[in-house]
Amino acid sequence: MESSLEGKENIHVKTFVGHAIDSNLRYAATSGGVGSALLGHLFSSGQVNTSLTFEFDPNTLRYAPRLIYKWEDYHPTGSIYQDMDLVGFIRSHVSEIRGTFACFCLPCQTASIRILLERAGHACFLLGLTCSSQQSMLATECLLKLLRIRKEDVSTLRYRGNGWPSGIQITLKNGNSVFVKNNASLWSDVFHSRLCSPKRCLYCQDTLNKNADISLADPWLPEFRHTETSGESLVVARTPLGEKILEESTVCSLVRIGDEKAFQSQRETILRKEGYATHPFRRKWLLKLQHWSWYRTVVFSSPTILKLHSKLLSRLKL
Ligand SMILES: Cc1cc2nc3c(=O)[nH]c(=O)nc-3n(C[C@H](O)[C@H](O)[C@H](O)COP(=O)(O)OP(=O)(O)OC[C@H]3O[C@@H](n4cnc5c(N)ncnc54)[C@H](O)[C@@H]3O)c2cc1C
Ligand code: SF4
Repeated sequence: MESSLEGKENIHVKTFVGHAIDSNLRYAATSGGVGSALLGHLFSSGQVNTSLTFEFDPNTLRYAPRLIYKWEDYHPTGSIYQDMDLVGFIRSHVSEIRGTFACFCLPCQTASIRILLERAGHACFLLGLTCSSQQSMLATECLLKLLRIRKEDVSTLRYRGNGWPSGIQITLKNGNSVFVKNNASLWSDVFHSRLCSPKRCLYCQDTLNKNADISLADPWLPEFRHTETSGESLVVARTPLGEKILEESTVCSLVRIGDEKAFQSQRETILRKEGYATHPFRRKWLLKLQHWSWYRTVVFSSPTILKLHSKLLSRLKL
């Protein structure tokens, strides 16, 4: 079934699946490392002069953006499930941007970043991440609490990368490490609880990043879901520039697939988001649950109660 709202985005697109040829980059990345490899190509071919990388601070457990002017300063971090004001960061550092700018961004950030940069006289290339929802720091804090890990004992924390689909990798100051799968796990229950997402995610109708030059997704398709372990990126060229970069770059191995695959891979998310628009009571209920701090406290008090909450959401199609 074609989605009524998201289907309108796919006016001029070319869809591929593939991975970075550099096997280290592919392994370290969220999906197949196509996003990172393309950023490398943009720097090395001189088409981009400024970009962003993210650095983890073990004191706050937060990732923070930093401007970079060369590819060697970029770290593939995998997806970062912490809400951050990327538009505000770029706005406050716009005077430090040199030449053409490229960065990864979520669908709700893409148009604002493009306008901001163009007004400042910079061309830009936007690598759009597909997005079901972002998480506040509460999600990470609740996961640690449920795992009985104290924040001050954490040394490093990664949400994705190092294989596919991977999961949360926590190293502790005492040298121990903890891994929680991305799917069908305590983390996915926290992530999909809808109790830690910013309110704007309940109003969002862009999943596939329609304003990006290239959008990237995990290939949540039957042909990959159960067998893939190294990682593949689902890649959609959305502008003539995006298409040109994909055609000329030799850093990725890509295969053209049907344009309907992008929608199919995110079908559940797209239909859920549409459901908030067509059945406003669903959004109203979730806003109520987010507002009740006592409810959050109860839900995150044990993995079993969290599971019951997840069942309730799926029963009510929330
Ligand atoms: C909040 C969030 C929600 C997501 N939801 C979905 C989803 O519903 N379905 C789906 O298929 N995929 C989702 N993704 C995954 C995303 O689409 C993958 O990152 C994408 O597949 C790119 O993979 P890649 O290996 O090509 O990119 P990589 O080579 O891994 O490059 C990704 C780069 O993006 C940057 N980055 C990471 N997190 C952020 C962030 N929060 N803001 C800005 N830049 C960032 C980092 O520099 C990272 O190295 C989500 C990611 C995020 C951050
Ligand atoms: S779901 Fe939409 S609003 Fe929420 S973070 Fe993703 S793109 Fe932004």
